[in-house]
Amino acid sequence: MYYNWKEATNTEELKVICNLIRNGEIVIFPTETVYGIGANALDANAVGKIFIAKGRPSDNPLIVHLADKGKLGEIVEEPNEVEQKLIDAFMPGPFTLILKRKPIIPDIVTAGLDTVAIRIPNNVIARGIITYSGVPIAAPSANVSGKPSGTNIEDIRKELEGKVSAIVDGGETEIGLESTVVKVNEQGIPVILRPGKVTPEDIERLIGKVIIDNNVLQKVDEKEVVESPGMKYKHYSPEAKCKLICCQDDLDEIFYIKKYIKEYQGNVVVIGFEEHKEKLFLEDERFIAICNKGDLEKYAKNIYSALRQADKVNPKMIIIEGVKKQGIGYAIMNRLLRTCEYDIIEK
Ligand code: AMP
Ligand code: MG
Repeated sequence: MYYNWKEATNTEELKVICNLIRNGEIVIFPTETVYGIGANALDANAVGKIFIAKGRPSDNPLIVHLADKGKLGEIVEEPNEVEQKLIDAFMPGPFTLILKRKPIIPDIVTAGLDTVAIRIPNNVIARGIITYSGVPIAAPSANVSGKPSGTNIEDIRKELEGKVSAIVDGGETEIGLESTVVKVNEQGIPVILRPGKVTPEDIERLIGKVIIDNNVLQKVDEKEVVESPGMKYKHYSPEAKCKLICCQDDLDEIFYIKKYIKEYQGNVVVIGFEEHKEKLFLEDERFIAICNKGDLEKYAKNIYSALRQADKVNPKMIIIEGVKKQGIGYAIMNRLLRTCEYDIIEK
């Protein structure tokens, strides 16, 4: 069933959705980062349905979403001082913390790890659904495994319609990239396992120290043992192959884009900056203006939808203009490197 809550949450329908969750069904709903497919995190059978709908590898654990901090004690051990500081500063928000789990969380949620990823979203619809369901909700991004995350219902319906019991439409998601995932190491230093809207700079300002896991910007082999299993997999990828162009100088940037347009005899789509459109002489459907150069917030918000749109003309190659690795740009580049399977021109 499709529910349109773009304007406001419908309270009668909210009861229906929460009953579905309590009865072990799976539901798509918006958060401030991307859309999620949620199930009662305490019901192993319900969580299993998420893995099936997404085709998600069973060793990739899920994030458990709570309505408020008061619920933390039910599912995780007492946080230490650094963890508590991070919770106080960044929850609710686009921030996920890995904590020691209590046995109440089924193994399927954590892929057997002794830790669990926790987030408290600050989107009104997400909070309403979690609060009135009365259970923690395990929810990965709403997309088929390996594809870009879903940031609007039109994109998601094509991929997942018929595989879930309900779809709640809350319009386009605000941020457009998944949450920042952090684990505090044994030395008490926060380690970023996946960058996001909460930046390394934000965490450093709060704690004084931050480490970015080596695998955030480098290629990870599927057989490798990593801190966060999600790092291993091909991810955020449309059907067409993608190439990332990331030059400091605009002249170099345009030179390389033109070089590849020629190499692929024009059978490309460029996802690029508004002001580069007129320099490339492409038909409208072959140039997707993602934002003005430097507008990283808008870039983050639009990138997944742009990747799906690019696929529509069936190009041989999608050429993507990258961004500076600072602020949320760090998260954008983390995702795009995987989108492009590390095929990048950097100058
Ligand atoms: P998704 O929900 O698809 O946005 O992905 C959740 C991310 O959190 C994946 O990259 C997981 O590998 C990571 N994750 C979830 N639980 C844990 C955990 N207990 N330890 C480390 N990483 C985790
Ligand atoms: Mg995902």
